[in-house]
Amino acid sequence: METKHNGWTNYATWRINLEMISDQEIHRNEDYVDECKNGDTYKLSLAMQEYVLENLYTENQLTYDYACAFVAEVNFYEIAEHIISDYEESHCDNCNDPLDYNTSVGAFCSEECKKEEEVLSTSPKG
Ligand SMILES: [Zn+2]
Repeated sequence: METKHNGWTNYATWRINLEMISDQEIHRNEDYVDECKNGDTYKLSLAMQEYVLENLYTENQLTYDYACAFVAEVNFYEIAEHIISDYEESHCDNCNDPLDYNTSVGAFCSEECKKEEEVLSTSPKG
């Protein structure tokens, strides 16, 4: 039987996300920044699974097997969705620079970016 845990699919998903994954660190990590920018949830979910398993790796085979059994319960797609939505909320919609809430203009880092995006989205295609 599966029950929700603090809004997450299950206990393993909640705990791995809480203890092993920092959204901000993933956003800044060169290996994952493209997936964050492109909103590639599936690709990021696979990368997060690899990331977690690498960090849990130990030469003690039995210990590692137990860790893998726990990780197998994790919904990495849900974790990736969370990371990407956090990325979108904290980065400029135009240039992808991190937003500074003191100077940001809505979802943009500056008035310039807001204007640029408006021009792009209203200009005719082709
Ligand atoms: Zn910007």
